[in-house]
Amino acid sequence: MIYLDHAATTYTDEAVLKEMLPYYSEVYGNASSLHAEGRKATAAVDQSRERVARALGCKKNEVYFTSGGTESDNWAIRGVAYAKKEKGKHIITSKIEHHAVLHTVEQLEKEGFSVTYLDVDEYGTVSPESVAAAIRPDTVLVTVMAANNEVGTLQPIKEIAQICKERGVLMHTDAVQAIGAVPINVQELGVDLLSLSGHKFYGPKGIGVLYVRSGVRLQRFMLGGAQERSMRGGTSNTPGIVGLGFAIEKAVNEMEENNAHVTALRDRFIAAVTERIPYCRLNGHPQSRLPNNANFSFQYVEGESILLSLDFEDICVSSGSACTSGSLEPSHVLLAMGMPEELAHGSIRFTFGKRNTVADVDKTVDVLQNALQRLRAMSPLFPG
Ligand SMILES: *Cc1c(COP(=O)(O)O)cnc(C)c1O
Repeated sequence: MIYLDHAATTYTDEAVLKEMLPYYSEVYGNASSLHAEGRKATAAVDQSRERVARALGCKKNEVYFTSGGTESDNWAIRGVAYAKKEKGKHIITSKIEHHAVLHTVEQLEKEGFSVTYLDVDEYGTVSPESVAAAIRPDTVLVTVMAANNEVGTLQPIKEIAQICKERGVLMHTDAVQAIGAVPINVQELGVDLLSLSGHKFYGPKGIGVLYVRSGVRLQRFMLGGAQERSMRGGTSNTPGIVGLGFAIEKAVNEMEENNAHVTALRDRFIAAVTERIPYCRLNGHPQSRLPNNANFSFQYVEGESILLSLDFEDICVSSGSACTSGSLEPSHVLLAMGMPEELAHGSIRFTFGKRNTVADVDKTVDVLQNALQRLRAMSPLFPG
């Protein structure tokens, strides 16, 4: 099997899993219990919070554990919207956000909030000027992702956050794809809220973090116990929290080495595809993109057909984003970048990871070339 879908999820690193395992059946106390077994779990949760804070450059009490990136996005946006609704009900986002953001703001629109969806350029970049122009007196939140999950384009988060700060508007960023791939320091970026998810950087699934700058008023999300400083009730997912803390530390420590590895594979792949396969084009920004991402459009074919041909050879890739696969809607990200629908339909995302090899790349290019020759030969539109 050749796995080239690391933007959808990564495997859990062996060392991360080893850290987590004792917290399932040996140190299984409830982190909220006062007895010794509970206190061991509390200490583990506390240590993990410390690790996350160090990785992000923030304080421990600004780190809130959640069930993942989706919950963090939901909480950040609704939490600010509801807490600030007396001040204003306008939110700014971009057309290329993850559905965890888009569906959340769409729901708020139904509840009477107003939302501006910023355009992007042909590379999928949001311009800071467009953010500045969209801010109104009733704007309470700007939410723009740090790195796009489909085409890998990096966004000018620092510049956008600077504008938000000057205009007195809170700034949230979905940094789920950016953690472990680009340096993320919340002080340097100047963001007020940031979402991340364990399973995108070789940690476990079902665990995430919302960073909330101290002083930011947020409506609590999950009602229940007093966990997460009474802001997010529910028994702490101790093994997940331990795994996430260990994984983020490892991801930051190994970032340079991992990036060098995946960039080399990604660039070899891009060069070979561009040279050997006609009528293709690389999507996303040519330089300012995630080191492991290559997203191509192939003319005269359906992305799903390519995906299935690769799957038949045990190669895992994604067409559009994993969350929308199964639906035949073309990617909202590619459409926002101005791509015609037919071309957007023929797009495939390849995202490389730590375990991939040069042999994986070469095999994939061979299979891809054959699949495209076969599929295009059946297409009445293909000029040959
Ligand atoms: C994966 C992903 C999410 C969702 O995270 P989960 O932990 O799977 O809920 C949100 N935003 C982006 C950009 C993602 O890539």
